[in-house]
Amino acid sequence: MKVLVVDDSKAIFMMVSQMLTEANHTAVWAEDGSKAIEVIAENPDVELILLDWNMPVMNGPEFLQKNLDDSFTSVPIMMMTTENKPAYIKEALSLGATEYIMKPFTSDILFNKIDLVCGGF
Ligand SMILES: [Mg+2]
Repeated sequence: MKVLVVDDSKAIFMMVSQMLTEANHTAVWAEDGSKAIEVIAENPDVELILLDWNMPVMNGPEFLQKNLDDSFTSVPIMMMTTENKPAYIKEALSLGATEYIMKPFTSDILFNKIDLVCGGF
């Protein structure tokens, strides 16, 4: 399946992209939430979004809020965060994120989480 990775760090994208391609999936990249909206429009076959919290232009929570307002995607969104504060996680979930994953993560953790949100993946 095709996964959109939204992160201002190209290094993070490269790492996640490698994990996905090794499992025969495809990754596309957007460096902020605003760019992600364009990439979603250009890639209607995206089935999962991995979303960073801190980004310039439009950050993760702003992207989630924008999607609540405009409904440009209905695919599962997994928040990638270095924050494990319950308040952050609660905010992300209340804004429509389906799951969250703590950075840095291993391939095993990523695929366990993906299995949770995309069951039968
Ligand atoms: Mg970031």
